[in-house]
Amino acid sequence: MGFPPHKEWMGEVNNKIAVYVRGVKEFVKYAKRNLKSDLIPCPCIRCRNGKNVNGGEVELHLVKWGMQQDYVFWGFHGERECPFVLEQLSY
Ligand SMILES: [Zn+2]
Repeated sequence: MGFPPHKEWMGEVNNKIAVYVRGVKEFVKYAKRNLKSDLIPCPCIRCRNGKNVNGGEVELHLVKWGMQQDYVFWGFHGERECPFVLEQLSY
């Protein structure tokens, strides 16, 4: 009689993927709304915003290859707020 194998980690990984995919979909929605276009620059590590593709393809790239880690301010996708606003407020 042994203990049943631990399988909680499987759910853990699935949850993380689900959260990631939800975030990717939100990002695509956000970009399409801001740019008023079906074609948006793809921020994946391969395209690096250098290629305009449709939302479905962006989702695919981001899930498959991941997003550019240094693309934290979404300037190519309609984000307009100054990224340093919070810093300035603290002076
Ligand atoms: Zn891409």
